[in-house]
Amino acid sequence: MTSVGGRMRSLWLVFLLAGCKKDDVETADLLVLGNIHMDVETETDAIAVRNGQIVAIGADAQALKGTGTAEVDVGDQHVFPGFHDAHTHLLAGSFAFARLLLLGTPSMEAMTTATVDYASDLDPEEPWVVGYGWLAENIPEPDGRAISEVITDRPVLLVSNSGHEAVVNQFALDLAGITAETPDPPDGMIGRDPDTGEPTGYLVEGAMTAIATQAMDEYDDARLSSALPGKLVDFSRSGLTGVSEILAAPGFDLGRPQIYTALEESGDLPIRVTWYAPLFSIDDFDEIEALRDNNPGELVRFGGAKIWVDGSMGSAEAWMEEEYQGNPGSFGTHYLDGDALTAIVFEAETRGIPLKLHVNGDAAVDAALDAFEAVAAANGSLTQHHILDHLCLADPDDIVRISTLGLSVSVQPTHYAAANLGETAEYLGEEVFSHAYDYSSFVEGGIPTALGTDWPVWPTTHTLLVAWSSTKTGAERELTMEDALRGYTEGSAAAINRSEDLGRLDVGYLADFVVLSQNPLEVDVDAVPDITVERRFVNGREIH
Ligand SMILES: [Zn+2]
Repeated sequence: MTSVGGRMRSLWLVFLLAGCKKDDVETADLLVLGNIHMDVETETDAIAVRNGQIVAIGADAQALKGTGTAEVDVGDQHVFPGFHDAHTHLLAGSFAFARLLLLGTPSMEAMTTATVDYASDLDPEEPWVVGYGWLAENIPEPDGRAISEVITDRPVLLVSNSGHEAVVNQFALDLAGITAETPDPPDGMIGRDPDTGEPTGYLVEGAMTAIATQAMDEYDDARLSSALPGKLVDFSRSGLTGVSEILAAPGFDLGRPQIYTALEESGDLPIRVTWYAPLFSIDDFDEIEALRDNNPGELVRFGGAKIWVDGSMGSAEAWMEEEYQGNPGSFGTHYLDGDALTAIVFEAETRGIPLKLHVNGDAAVDAALDAFEAVAAANGSLTQHHILDHLCLADPDDIVRISTLGLSVSVQPTHYAAANLGETAEYLGEEVFSHAYDYSSFVEGGIPTALGTDWPVWPTTHTLLVAWSSTKTGAERELTMEDALRGYTEGSAAAINRSEDLGRLDVGYLADFVVLSQNPLEVDVDAVPDITVERRFVNGREIH
């Protein structure tokens, strides 16, 4: 015989269980059905999402369907983890692309004409005449003097495609106080008239910094970021659910994460943004910590400090162990040497700030690894997850060292495409060039390898096109499509230290995913760029 109290208790229990089971706390917000690629190897037919997170897969996921569960059945399309571009300059690029574009400009004369035309129609409120994108191979002898003669009343700044060189007018030189007496900075070069020593308005690497700072200070957040929301939509449509965003270009400090924080707050941010603040000297750490602490966010997160160890390979300024065959006597440019680098790594470890290092040439890679090894030896181990970017040329023993130190690498197959268009093979010599851009060596060395574009250095946001191009790098073993997709998902998640919740579709991971018209792993590799991104979801919410 059951007591009344006992019956009441069991009724209460049944009621409680029924209440929990369906239509209440435990059902899913979203159920995704179809060909779901958890990663490049593993598939499932269902994922259940609650509060932006994947809570079940397969049959377990289907069991969480309740009356309030939204359902997405992708039919014969394919779900993949959302793509993450591990190297962009989105704020800098959106600013530059909204100004004078010089990408195809064939000569210095054409650049002068284009600049004068542009300046004549320019909003008088616009502080500087800014252009972007000229190519060193089209303009081998950049010189601002012709522009100085026609634009005399406002400053002009024309940055090259790589961002490592600029042409300016006399007005800009005067603002920055650059004269015949100004010495070249240790990390840069001021172009000069061979007879008079007067600056011509051509500035390389560190010589751009004074002018870049002056120019950017004139732009408030609103003017600086006016084209950013549109560009974020382009990025999202290309399949990106996240980017590693460098709030800088060489010499340009755009450390304004509050622009992204404000977009997140207003609901206008369609992708995750992991941002890196530029660190030009060890004295910048305090400012970076303050930026980090003052800009908390969910989609927007602090990634670390970005430092430039050397120049760019495209302009033969990467720091090399051997001299450039096409430029005898030159070993490229470096901004930091061994001791300065070690001090920065030590400080970063002490403060708990990950570093993202621009290292192109083999000497730069070596110097960075020496610094990490010195700090790891002194402290016992590294506590932060640091990233090496670009690595156009790395020695085989560097691969072992990177792996031992537990670093990630982030590479841009678009740089190989650009090198092929340019004169890099001539600078490096065919033999060296033949083992440059060998991204498969990192993959085979077991190093987490992230892919990205370095946008706007390469002006496409078409993620599947870039993934495809990484299978065409001319290296002995090119990346496979599996490598490429892994590089855009798990590899990039590792690079931002989010291997626990991003880059895969599995229980406990955030529901960032894309729906593709076809499976890139099944179609012929050359058909991959034709695959379309049909839908995108971030945190389980569809982006429109
Ligand atoms: Zn970059």
